[in-house]
Amino acid sequence: MQPIAFNKPYLTGKEGHYIYQAVMSGKISGDGIFTKQCHEFFETQFGFRKCLLTTSCTDALEMAALLIDIKPGDEVIMPSFTFVSTANAFVLRGAKIVFCDSRADHPGMDEDLIEPLITERTRAIVPVHYAGVACDMDKIMALAKKYDLFVIEDAAQAIDSYYTGADGVKRPLGSIGHMAAFSFHETKNIMSGEGGMLVVNDERFVERAEIIREKGTNRSKFFRGEIDKYGWVDVGSSFLPSDIIAAFLFAQLENLEDIQNKRRQIWDAYKVGLADLEEKGKLKLPVIPPYATNNSHMFYVLTNGLEERTALIEGLRKNNIIAVFHYLSLHKSAFYADKHDGRDLPQADRYTNSLVRLPMYYELDADVVINALHQLL
Ligand SMILES: *Cc1c(COP(=O)(O)O)cnc(C)c1O
Repeated sequence: MQPIAFNKPYLTGKEGHYIYQAVMSGKISGDGIFTKQCHEFFETQFGFRKCLLTTSCTDALEMAALLIDIKPGDEVIMPSFTFVSTANAFVLRGAKIVFCDSRADHPGMDEDLIEPLITERTRAIVPVHYAGVACDMDKIMALAKKYDLFVIEDAAQAIDSYYTGADGVKRPLGSIGHMAAFSFHETKNIMSGEGGMLVVNDERFVERAEIIREKGTNRSKFFRGEIDKYGWVDVGSSFLPSDIIAAFLFAQLENLEDIQNKRRQIWDAYKVGLADLEEKGKLKLPVIPPYATNNSHMFYVLTNGLEERTALIEGLRKNNIIAVFHYLSLHKSAFYADKHDGRDLPQADRYTNSLVRLPMYYELDADVVINALHQLL
């Protein structure tokens, strides 16, 4: 039997064709026709104020840290149960990371634990919409307002997912914070191998974001004919992807609805197919809070601890099914453990030890995995 991979990148069929078009257009550096089409797609579909494709979500987070002028000694609050890039972007600017524990019902940060972590030096909160499921943004935005902080959404996993606040308005994730970072890494719902995007919702950052992305020059303005020569006006780096990457991405975006529907079917099949195992106390299934939607980025289960998890992953592997655990909490990482302030983060530890991500991709037959889990548990 062919092993069932954990992830398998899905191709819509148009990627090669659009890449060919990008190549033949004669402009294959950044901000060509396909980059513009991607920007337009996101700005119209999701109402993001300003979209800028980047070479990764990591890059988009680094841009955000530059834009809010993070300086040595500044503090940034984020979950410990997240990917290293969420933290690295700010560590690169000299910030101290203040880790917040996860919620008991969900790996996202516990919004009720944030306020006591805020000090004179706090500059930003970085909520991570884990598995594409929204953090409670009303609470986070209220704290940001009260203490004059920036909110940078790590929306790496959160494309086409939504949050409904107390006002009843359903808003796309990535449109709520001052800025947001998306990933189009091969493991995400919509992908271009490597790729990302910075969303700028706060008007104050729009012009400088273009400059920082273009090596600290005002070249974007120049290309729009707004100035007659361009030069070095700020710090910056090269954060923009080739139009070849954007061509690939656009083919995926055109099929967003189909991809999302398919993933949703697989997610629902898991949820229904594993419900009896949850009733028997063998596993816990994901919880989607009432204010959040589910973009079916990930299907994870929680075991009753590390030993059971190791046995489950091993059992699945013997059945030719690749399932994986996820983050090792950053407050216990080799790099940051001695810089962390020593607070215990029991929920982050619990997810570190008990979470298993099941295979999830367009062409997956979830029944094979569901049956194997029934045999094992
Ligand atoms: C995937 C991911 C990233 C990094 O994305 P890249 O595009 O690979 O840089 C950052 N944060 C979270 C939460 C992610 O899931």
